[in-house]
Amino acid sequence: MKKEKAVVVFSGGQDSTTCLFWAKKKFQEVEAVTFDYGQRHRLEIECAKNIAEELGVKQHILDMQLLNQLAPNALTRESITVKAGADGELPNTFVPGRNLLFLSFAGVLASQIGARHIVTGVCETDFSGYPDCRDIFIKSLNVTLNLSMDQQFVIHTPLMWRNKAETWALADELGAFDFVREKTLTCYNGIIADGCGECPACKLRKRGLEQYLAIRNGQSE
Ligand SMILES: [Zn+2]
Repeated sequence: MKKEKAVVVFSGGQDSTTCLFWAKKKFQEVEAVTFDYGQRHRLEIECAKNIAEELGVKQHILDMQLLNQLAPNALTRESITVKAGADGELPNTFVPGRNLLFLSFAGVLASQIGARHIVTGVCETDFSGYPDCRDIFIKSLNVTLNLSMDQQFVIHTPLMWRNKAETWALADELGAFDFVREKTLTCYNGIIADGCGECPACKLRKRGLEQYLAIRNGQSE
């Protein structure tokens, strides 16, 4: 496995940056793919670029503006406020089929650059109701990609069963805790590192961080 090449789906956020560190440990060669779908904060693309550059990872930025055309929502339109879904409803950050599209394009790119492995930070534990973050979907898409291109891809999901605290723990195990904390962008208001502290993404990230720090401090006492 070590000698093989991987493509990491990379947004510059906490999860995908942790995955990038994970892949760099696991594979000889790693490239990143970032999707530009007209994110409401252009800083997201800049942030991803800076991280890839700092880690010496070749990055492909693919234009996915068509997603904005298909699914105008709170992630891409300044005029729509981000809010959590009511009971049992999807949050309004949901773009239907986003991971389906992203992972399919990542598969095509992987085929073109001779990478057998595709790494994505999707997670069923904190999945907010996004159906294409579920493990069963990833397994299904893996089969579909293999059949569509007659190849043997392996989709890796190192975060699938981790909650946010466990994702911080993984970053720490990989020696990337400070890097991930200081350089990634998760905040819906476009503020790097600990973010605005108010939006749903910041709250989730902060809760996980506090949980993890409590565990870590407990162990060192
Ligand atoms: Zn925020």
